[in-house]
Amino acid sequence: MDIDTGDLTFQLKDQNLFKQKCFINGEWVDSDSLDTFDVHNPSDLTLVGSMPNCSKSDTIKAIDAANNSWVAWKKLTGKDRSIIIRKWHELILENIDDLALIMTLENGKPIADSRGEIIYASWFTDWFSEEAKRTYGKTIPSTMADRRMMSIKQPIGVCGIITPWNFPAAMITRKVAPALAAGCPVVIKPAGSTPFSATALVELAHRAGVPKGVINLISVSEENVSEVGDELCTNNHVRKISFTGSTNVGRALIAKTASTIKKVSMELGGHAPLIIFEDADLDQAVEGAMANKYRNSGQVCVSANRIFVHEKIYDEFAKKFSERSAALKVSDGREDGAQIGPLITMSAVEKVQSHVEDAVSKGAKVMTGGALDNAGKQFYKPTVMTNVTNKMKIFYEETFGPVAPLIKFSSEEEVIKMANDSNYGLAGYFYSRDIGRIYRVAEALEYGMVGINAGVISTEVAPFGGIKESGIGREGAAEGIDEYLETKYMLIAGIDD
Ligand code: NAP
Repeated sequence: MDIDTGDLTFQLKDQNLFKQKCFINGEWVDSDSLDTFDVHNPSDLTLVGSMPNCSKSDTIKAIDAANNSWVAWKKLTGKDRSIIIRKWHELILENIDDLALIMTLENGKPIADSRGEIIYASWFTDWFSEEAKRTYGKTIPSTMADRRMMSIKQPIGVCGIITPWNFPAAMITRKVAPALAAGCPVVIKPAGSTPFSATALVELAHRAGVPKGVINLISVSEENVSEVGDELCTNNHVRKISFTGSTNVGRALIAKTASTIKKVSMELGGHAPLIIFEDADLDQAVEGAMANKYRNSGQVCVSANRIFVHEKIYDEFAKKFSERSAALKVSDGREDGAQIGPLITMSAVEKVQSHVEDAVSKGAKVMTGGALDNAGKQFYKPTVMTNVTNKMKIFYEETFGPVAPLIKFSSEEEVIKMANDSNYGLAGYFYSRDIGRIYRVAEALEYGMVGINAGVISTEVAPFGGIKESGIGREGAAEGIDEYLETKYMLIAGIDD
């Protein structure tokens, strides 16, 4: 299929992966209203495609389909579910070229990053296909001689899965793979700006043999999102909401789920500190800061939004980091060598601009960038600012763009205090070669994840998640499947000697 994207036309190897429909009870369908909404490429604002605009009635159909499929799905053995998830994993990797192209068209990220995300997404299908076989319970030493006690793990039930646009594939597999592995059916609501990565993944899950009703997908415009969200959060058949997105939306969803007491997993916003101590390997720190800050144009929840540099190496770090930042290639994600793609919307661009303008008006100095890039309306230059202080908006708010504010510090105690001065608690990083400091600082940082001498830390084998207003629960690792399981305690009496 040719997708006409302005002056560039791209061909998918498998045209059936580009679905512009919802998936309910094993079928690709329109919304009840037949209403649709358009999705545009953030690079050049051309139309990528249209999706059904669902409302409450479509949401109920998807939830009912999931609920009706539950008994049969949970009765399969973990090993049977594992085989299906493993097949899904293989299909994802076989179709990496098409999946990456679809992602770059709808999200704008450089094609190399899109391929990287598909591989990252596939780590979760790999890991949870194995974890499906390991939902162990316990035998509990009994407190009475004639009794035996144990606990078993059982699937929680229908899960509502709500995902953001910044990782359109990985946020789906990180939730759906453990849900399916645990024995739960799902209703997915992908971000309105990136639904086609989600529909392609659902098509592959269908081909892998996920039974009808077990995986459902509904799409919705910005106008209808509250109505659909309300139904997912209040419908009695939905037992769990797993959400990744902004703290404000997460907070609202938690409040809505309270009426039916649902279990929730919340992967919310971040405001990561990255600390470069005076004993760090400076070149390694520059490398780590580049990888951390500019992936997905800085639109990453675990991206550093405050870079604290010790006063002894501040100027040298600022110079090296600015030179590397200025050399990044800003362009349409489809171009060879693209490194910085567009921001997702004009309002994202405005937020980045407002953070930079506010900082500059309060004394920050722009070392490089600080302006829109001529690659297109939604492109912002990689930006490094020095003289940043806690009087500026950027010190407390998530920027979600390619802007690196550098803050000077003079002592370990001072920088830990500044780093923890945030309502967020997702990821933190630091560079140091002093083993005592490594333990002290890692333990003192109030963050769910800490990277030491590393700028990129996400993997399927480690628990990903935040504290404070960055969320509730963990994804990936052994903890990831537990989010979709309930523990049942069983006592057997009357066992005589
Ligand atoms: P968002 O605006 O909160 O949206 C996330 C998802 O929620 C989208 O699918 C969105 O739909 C949906 N949504 C919005 N309002 C809703 C409502 N009233 N009811 C139900 N669903 C609703 O966040 P975003 O801008 O897409 O993503 C960026 C944010 O996600 C950042 O704060 C980032 O830090 C965070 N994030 C966190 C993690 C993590 O693991 N902690 C990972 C990635 C991103 P529409 O798209 O249709 O509006």
